[in-house]
Amino acid sequence: MSKALELLVSELATGQLEVVDLTFTLREDSPIIVLPPEFGESAPVRIERISRYDAAGPAWYWNNLSFGEHTGTHFDAPVHWFTGRDLPLNTVDTLPVGRMVAPANVIDCSAESAADPDFLLTRAHVEAWEARHGRIAPGTWVLLRTDWSKRTGLDYANLGDDGAHTPGPDAEVMEWLVAERDILGFGTETIGTDAGQGGHFIPPYPAHHFLHGGGRYGLQCLCGLDQLPAKGAVLMTAPLKIHEGSGSPLRVLALVPRAV
Ligand code: MN
Repeated sequence: MSKALELLVSELATGQLEVVDLTFTLREDSPIIVLPPEFGESAPVRIERISRYDAAGPAWYWNNLSFGEHTGTHFDAPVHWFTGRDLPLNTVDTLPVGRMVAPANVIDCSAESAADPDFLLTRAHVEAWEARHGRIAPGTWVLLRTDWSKRTGLDYANLGDDGAHTPGPDAEVMEWLVAERDILGFGTETIGTDAGQGGHFIPPYPAHHFLHGGGRYGLQCLCGLDQLPAKGAVLMTAPLKIHEGSGSPLRVLALVPRAV
């Protein structure tokens, strides 16, 4: 075994490295995005029992599943958006597996998001974060911590008559993170990588527009970001290998160093 892997195994065993789950349980009431009525909608999650030690299967328990690709804690591939439709390796079944293990930068905007559900992350916020924690390295994730995952029921989607009111990035910071920081992707605790009102931005849904147009990825409905350091965690993000899939629910795990 290589020295790096020996150290990994040993630090996991001693608790110097902890595995933190950033995933919501996928369940029939998992929140899904609601689009204006003229558009197609994602189906809700369905978990249908085939058998559970009964006449349909006396010794075994199993279920049939159905869900939209963009359900629960999930991954967005570049082909999800029109800006990424012609890129190579843009579907979940073709994206390079080497990119499924990468460091995370966590920007804590929980206080700002508690004060304002329409809080927008700007380039100035990220530059202030970099002044404290160092420059965001190429090929790494940027995760927007809002503590939104602690909300329950109707407060999570936070729908008004004029759409959702949830925090997210503005257009300038997304274009800049892709072009000037060469990030791997952007992750949020809310239903989308974009702010709830992101459809009114220029361009509409700028996180989707710039991330996927640049061949980058999205993570949504993350939880547990309050357990991560600003820098120093490594994410494992392997979406299901769906043929020509635009995204998928997945288990997001973080390797986190702990002082023991
Ligand atoms: Mn999505």
